[in-house]
Amino acid sequence: MKETKAAEETVDILAVGAHPDDIELGCGATLVSLAARGRRFGILDLTRGESGTRGTPQIRAAEAAAAAKALGARFRQSLDLGDGGLRTDRDAELQVIEVIRRVRPKLVIAPFPADRHPDHVRASRLATEASFYAGLRALRSGAAAHRPQSVVYYASSYTQQPSFFVDVTDAFETKMKAIRCFASQFYDPASTEPETVLSQKTFLDAIEARARFYGRLINVTYAEAFVSPRPPTLADPVAAFAGYEPGFDGSLR
Ligand SMILES: [Zn+2]
Repeated sequence: MKETKAAEETVDILAVGAHPDDIELGCGATLVSLAARGRRFGILDLTRGESGTRGTPQIRAAEAAAAAKALGARFRQSLDLGDGGLRTDRDAELQVIEVIRRVRPKLVIAPFPADRHPDHVRASRLATEASFYAGLRALRSGAAAHRPQSVVYYASSYTQQPSFFVDVTDAFETKMKAIRCFASQFYDPASTEPETVLSQKTFLDAIEARARFYGRLINVTYAEAFVSPRPPTLADPVAAFAGYEPGFDGSLR
């Protein structure tokens, strides 16, 4: 696995996060699950996480590399767009376009467009717009034009009506192992650093509870939820509803 270097390998999926650890928390188990099916994925962190209350950019880079290895990423590249004020100007956009064109993902996974942290909101928009612009042939850069099939969004602090779930029961323990690689950020009773929202024990408990809750909705142990501007196409609706049972849902649209 290449660390914080230019990503040169093509992948099926590019997972984009604002900060190192966003991917692990939001969609880490889905990536593990896809890798088990032979899909190749890479991670793009838009910032180095230098504004975090705990740890240092050096510590976080080492943690991020270990976590990417645990997940099975083909690469993890880090841009430096500014943690706590993520830049979305044309230069930033061109940097993301360049990565998309080099690694040619079929699917981009990005943070949901509404969230507690403004960097996540900006990352969502940047990833979406860069994914579209990357396909414009008239926009010349070092790599050939490429437009991903779609951008789908992973949940963070807010809830939204999911467009689809991924059963991650078999991948959940690996996700938690990857999250624990970020030892400086999460619960550690021996740490002398200041407490943050993330470092409380209840934070990781909530990550597990959310996956269990989503899993319960589709009759599996753990699931991750995604929002898509358009619903996915199911090749086999019979297989897609295996394990379900009939029922009414007032939220059906
Ligand atoms: Zn974040």
